[in-house]
Amino acid sequence: MVGGGIWGCSIAYHLGRAGVSDVLVLERGELGSGNTSQAAGLVGQLRASRLMASAIMETVKRLASWQAEHGEDPGFRQVGSLKLALTEERDRELRTQVAQAQRWGLGVELISPREAQARAPLLDTRAVKACAWIPTDGYVEPYTLTMALATVARGLGVRMRRQSPVTALTVERGRVTAAETPDGAVETETVVVAAGPWVELIGGALGLRFALVPIRHQFWVTAPMDGAPRDMPVVRVPDLSAYLRPEVGGVLMGGYERSPKSVAMAELPPAFTIEETEKDPAALEELGGGLTEAFPALGAAPMIRGCAGLPTFTPDGNCLIGPVPGVRGLYVAAGCNAFGIAGALPVGRWVSELILEGRTGADTSTQALTRFGTRYRNRRRLRADCESIYANMYSLAKGAF
Ligand SMILES: Cc1cc2nc3c(=O)[nH]c(=O)nc-3n(C[C@H](O)[C@H](O)[C@H](O)COP(=O)(O)OP(=O)(O)OC[C@H]3O[C@@H](n4cnc5c(N)ncnc54)[C@H](O)[C@@H]3O)c2cc1C
Repeated sequence: MVGGGIWGCSIAYHLGRAGVSDVLVLERGELGSGNTSQAAGLVGQLRASRLMASAIMETVKRLASWQAEHGEDPGFRQVGSLKLALTEERDRELRTQVAQAQRWGLGVELISPREAQARAPLLDTRAVKACAWIPTDGYVEPYTLTMALATVARGLGVRMRRQSPVTALTVERGRVTAAETPDGAVETETVVVAAGPWVELIGGALGLRFALVPIRHQFWVTAPMDGAPRDMPVVRVPDLSAYLRPEVGGVLMGGYERSPKSVAMAELPPAFTIEETEKDPAALEELGGGLTEAFPALGAAPMIRGCAGLPTFTPDGNCLIGPVPGVRGLYVAAGCNAFGIAGALPVGRWVSELILEGRTGADTSTQALTRFGTRYRNRRRLRADCESIYANMYSLAKGAF
């Protein structure tokens, strides 16, 4: 396994659970030190596609029973979530989405703005046209879940080597045979590249290109403030492409800017680490400016910290997982579209099934590496389509939520 982020740890855990103990995770830094360390950890089940809705419903069920099963706290805070419509257009979209999700078996209902305010006291009801309430949603502490996965995986025989970068993959006669590290080569018949945005570099060295683009994503956290109880639900505001959740007495607020900044990993210094991702105060202005309409108190709240990272986005908002055509034994797990924490358990299960059985239990062809054919040979087009997914993340028709 190349990469010890939440995906690498989850895939290793699922392989271990399936009885494969000969698994080695190679991580260039510390476990969870990539995008995983920067994530807000929102776990939202109200999604645009049925597969993803079912997948995140699976996540919620498994997180809720994790402690009883494994004796480890996975860091799940099941505070529920609200999804707001501030405009007529979103009101219609939200009602369509709620009806669809109910048919898919999700517990979700429309509630009045006043009921929403009782749950999220910072909300000014005058701005709200409609509101969906999903009581089983919440957020997970990304590092805690990653460590929980790693701990259980180790107990199943998986080995994890930190500070161990994979410097090259050896491919002989169309088959992967080894992963090179500064301590020598690790011979293997199977390699999974779960390296987040660095998949571009690992693939590039083999002449492979994947239909994804790393795009900067950011959030900020306010100082503790009145009206932000620690059990406040997660709030999503699609009209503003923004989200909120409680964070130690204050509010964490993030969102998807209209003009995303995509990045080419090859243009960053080789030793680049995710914490070095530059934060952009203009994005905070765009986000905060919009949010004060529905949450006026945020206007005066001091920001005490921000987080930024480079999750990878695909042209259709689905993941990019599975075997790499033309290189036997090589698999990729990338294209998290900024829901890789929420999706870590199902994605880990799918990749493990693909490796061990050649297929997944559910139909995951929409996540296959090969689904775009040659459409994205043109990088400019790829970037434009991935940026469009980013900017429309909360659109039922165009995005993932
Ligand atoms: C600001 C922000 C907010 C987010 N909010 C959410 C959210 O609310 N909900 C949600 O579900 N998701 C969220 N995400 C997305 C989430 O962080 C990612 O989807 C998730 O972390 C992906 O995990 P990963 O393991 O694929 O990648 P990463 O965590 O990036 O892990 C990749 C790992 O590979 C290692 N690596 C790279 N190259 C090599 C090499 N050559 N050799 C060895 N190791 C290597 C890296 O060091 C890294 O540890 C957010 C992301 C950001 C940046």
